[in-house]
Amino acid sequence: MIPQADPGAGYRAQKEEIDAAVARALSSGWYILGQEGAAFEREYAQWLGEGQRAVGCANGTDAIALILRGMGIGEGSTVVTVSHTAVATVAAIEMAGATPLLLDIDPDTYCMDPDELAAVLDDPPPGIPPIRAVIAVHIYGHPCDLTPMLAACAKAGVPLIEDCAQAHGARHDGRMIGTIGYAAAYSLYPTKNLGALGDGGVLSTADHELADRIGAIRQYGWRERYISSLVGVNSRLDEVQAAILRAKLPRLDANNARRREIAAHYDAALAGTSLTPPARAEGVEHVFHQYVLRSPERTAIMAALKAQGVGTGIHYPVPVHEQSAYAGRTALGPAACAETSRASQEVFSLPLYPELTEAQIEQVCNALRGL
Ligand SMILES: *Cc1c(COP(=O)(O)O)cnc(C)c1O
Repeated sequence: MIPQADPGAGYRAQKEEIDAAVARALSSGWYILGQEGAAFEREYAQWLGEGQRAVGCANGTDAIALILRGMGIGEGSTVVTVSHTAVATVAAIEMAGATPLLLDIDPDTYCMDPDELAAVLDDPPPGIPPIRAVIAVHIYGHPCDLTPMLAACAKAGVPLIEDCAQAHGARHDGRMIGTIGYAAAYSLYPTKNLGALGDGGVLSTADHELADRIGAIRQYGWRERYISSLVGVNSRLDEVQAAILRAKLPRLDANNARRREIAAHYDAALAGTSLTPPARAEGVEHVFHQYVLRSPERTAIMAALKAQGVGTGIHYPVPVHEQSAYAGRTALGPAACAETSRASQEVFSLPLYPELTEAQIEQVCNALRGL
């Protein structure tokens, strides 16, 4: 069976370098917020581009919550995002103390509907605190339609934050995702396009003062050891993970290119079937964190693929606003997330990671041709 995700393959592909990096971190005698973490932050910021600063933290959820805290967004604020996302995006808004307002998606790209965003910024739903930020989720590695979103945010005077947990290295009109909004959050969970071998997260911004403030907030609000000048939390990236990430970062662009190459094979195999390859909006460079198809016959198709040895997944089976834990806790936009609910019934994801072998890709393509 070809697994839908295989983080172990990413380790095996770079075993010697990663083992050496781990040994280096272990031998250093310094395990939290040391040289490896600082070097990873520098290298990640450099990879993002001129003027960026990066701050490591414990995971991608914290990266979002830390950005909000650093901006002073918490209780008494509404933060707009989508329901079609990892529940983490919404959990982070609540961790910061803010109220989530969930919008619907464009059914082709699965990203936030910019028209609904403009509508709620112009005329917010009644009874919610003032909207203080928008979080754009570049879901599956496909950049959001940022141009109209940024225009709507600018008009309303509300900053746009990017959730890049699935989109490290994607581009929008040639610009690196994560450098377009005010700040960006990235998960480094093992299956992500840049994955640690444990938990990890990083955030970026060109506002160096915000980066400094968050750098303190992530460790008890310390700017100076044992002196809390800000109210903080504990959300640190450890040295072993930072060393592993430094070994993996130089391969990220090539790995994303490989993901696109595999996606093109799947596209070709789908010609002549009833399934439509994932959309790519004009001017975007998709990084295929997931290769997502949709069909009302999802259950039967997934079973047929399984019979051919092809594992699949569903991202995500239950939208956030339909999760029992979030019932009554989130506000919805005027579209009431109708496309989101429909998508959650139909989407499924194929295996897609850079380490898939030619034989595995061919096996997936053969199974697709038979659908
Ligand atoms: C994975 C993910 C997160 C959360 O990251 P963790 O590292 O698991 O906390 C947030 N948003 C999206 C869209 C994700 O896919």
